[in-house]
Amino acid sequence: MSQDCIFCKIIAGEIPSAKVYDRGGVYAFLDIAPVNKGHALVVPKKHHATLFDLPDDLGREMLAALKAVGRGVMAATGATGLNVGMNNYESAGQLVHHAHFHLIPRHAGDGLTLWTQHAYENVEEMQKLARAVVQAIG
Ligand code: AMP
Ligand code: ZN
Repeated sequence: MSQDCIFCKIIAGEIPSAKVYDRGGVYAFLDIAPVNKGHALVVPKKHHATLFDLPDDLGREMLAALKAVGRGVMAATGATGLNVGMNNYESAGQLVHHAHFHLIPRHAGDGLTLWTQHAYENVEEMQKLARAVVQAIG
């Protein structure tokens, strides 16, 4: 547990939450400021800061939780779609430094735009970047 982490405090029961899932190493609760009502956060019970800090063997459990909670949120809200999102590091909008997945229920025509998209200068620019990513992955 990280002393000054609000999600660690929620998981420990020190701060109330609208809990929707509590199995194995995973906990989920409703976001207090939902993008759409039913917006849920799925978090590892142990404090890990970002996706890159999550142990690989937690992945299977996290995926099972994302599917279970996602299905539950969709059924309870009548949503016909679901966005799964994750902010990693402050540049990407991460405010709480305890890794968490956002599950956002979506309804046809709800008008929500998550991000704007841009064009590459040309195909070569895109291919060059793809090669750099491949090289970085190793
Ligand atoms: P992020 O910007 O990805 O770090 O998202 C943090 C999320 O945590 C935001 O969507 C907040 O609305 C949500 N949040 C912060 N405090 C609480 C809380 N006490 N209970 C539920 N959700 C919270
Ligand atoms: Zn934490």
